Amino acid sequence: MPQTKRDYYEVLGVDRGASPAELKRAYRALAMRYHPDRNPGDHTSEENFKEIGEAYQVLSDPDRRQRYDSFGHAGEAMGGSAGFNFQSAFDLFDMFFAGGSPGQRRRGGPQRGNDLQLQVTIDFEEAIRGVSRTFDLTRYAACAECAGSGARAGTQAVACSDCAGQGQVQRVRQSLLGQMVTVEACPRCHGEGKMIESPCANCHGQGLVEAAKEVEVQIPPGVDNEMRVRVPGEGAGGPRGGPPGDLYLLISVRPHEELQRRGMTIVYECPITFSQAALGDTIEVPTVDGPVSMVVKPASQYGQQVRIPGKGAPDPRTGRRGDQVVRLRVVIPSRLTARERELLLELAPPDGKPHPVRKGFFENLKDVIGL
Ligand SMILES: [Zn+2]
Ligand SMILES: [Zn+2]
Repeated sequence: MPQTKRDYYEVLGVDRGASPAELKRAYRALAMRYHPDRNPGDHTSEENFKEIGEAYQVLSDPDRRQRYDSFGHAGEAMGGSAGFNFQSAFDLFDMFFAGGSPGQRRRGGPQRGNDLQLQVTIDFEEAIRGVSRTFDLTRYAACAECAGSGARAGTQAVACSDCAGQGQVQRVRQSLLGQMVTVEACPRCHGEGKMIESPCANCHGQGLVEAAKEVEVQIPPGVDNEMRVRVPGEGAGGPRGGPPGDLYLLISVRPHEELQRRGMTIVYECPITFSQAALGDTIEVPTVDGPVSMVVKPASQYGQQVRIPGKGAPDPRTGRRGDQVVRLRVVIPSRLTARERELLLELAPPDGKPHPVRKGFFENLKDVIGL
């Protein structure tokens, strides 16, 4: 039970700023006193012995101690593998420590919360027109009981006495080159300048608790695959009352059955028959706004492009829409009726020679078939 778990420093009977040597001394003394061999059958001693061991294990490891100092027992759980429920989309550890390891953390209490990213799949048309999506987001948010301070209600974090709340201490060293003054993060408060003497029970001094929230996001028109949409302030809450991070939606667009996207241009590969290409036609082609009529000019060549202005994707910043490009693909029938075969043989009997497209070719063709 994390709520009833005693503070590790309290367990070892040492100050929060205790040096590794002091920790070791305290641990040894207590371990000797509560060792099961010395207290056979004494259940309380056995529990104490375990508690001391656990406290020492955590506090003797610099990383784990730092985490514990920052987030209490919940922080300890972050680093461990057992019994902790990681969010599928976000790694909790990253959530807290984005922007450097705890040891490199900038001085000063509040930190901005981590950015979160969600993968979102939308339809082709939704990407063009924009769409609103609602997410049930569970992330860390400021603890309501302590307003994110981490200090028990009615108490406050107090200025660290070792550094007078500065978070930094000056150290003077004698070296071969003379006196060297260095400024280091205060070891007692680990650069925070403040210390929480009585942590909030609800958040174990973290200032953050897991909270679910419904977030509605307006995805702007024109987004494309792999684009990220930023939702300011909907990321994880900031430790020690810091501002929240941002939420990012990583967009993935479902492909359309007929249309393809090339930036702001939408491409449609349009199958037409030989006679439509040769004689011209007015055909209906699909666009994201529904079918539109398009003129295929007589003598259109295979692969020729017809532009339909304003039917492309909008620029997400300006809203200006691109064009749709229709590429004409002349389809050769896979099967001919006897009549078609007869007509083709009459029109252009195979003659064993290549037929490069030349100017006037289709004009002549039109004459041949009587137009
Ligand atoms: Zn709290
Ligand atoms: Zn300090």
